[in-house]
Amino acid sequence: MQDCIFCKIARKEIPAQIIFEDEQILAFRDIDPKAPQHILLIPKEHIATINDLVTEQSHLVGRMTLTAAQLAKQLGFANQGYRLVMNCNEHGGQTVFHIHLHLLAGRHLLWPPG
Ligand code: 5GP
Ligand code: ZN
Repeated sequence: MQDCIFCKIARKEIPAQIIFEDEQILAFRDIDPKAPQHILLIPKEHIATINDLVTEQSHLVGRMTLTAAQLAKQLGFANQGYRLVMNCNEHGGQTVFHIHLHLLAGRHLLWPPG
């Protein structure tokens, strides 16, 4: 997608603090962190929302989740805990329409969310 900001990050057209990359997945720090640790995990392939995910792409979400757990261990907050969030559309609070998994950690997160 030409104008998608996360596609541009995946193509290295705009900078980001990338902390993990393989052929299918990219993880980078959120530009406006909502917790001491706030990492976004995306598929390199453009998928606008979770509503648009098809069966053939479901492995990407599995890899994003597994990568988040591996990063949590590597960065040392796996045992204390963290939160994984995917926002969808208006009521979910989605602002970037390229699916992403938020990995949030480093403080006691409130539940339920606001
Ligand atoms: P959403 O609200 O769609 O679930 O989350 C989008 C997230 O992307 C927000 O937390 C926002 O701070 C982050 N974000 C938006 N633009 C950029 C950017 O250009 N670079 C990075 N690293 N994060 C971004
Ligand atoms: Zn995109």
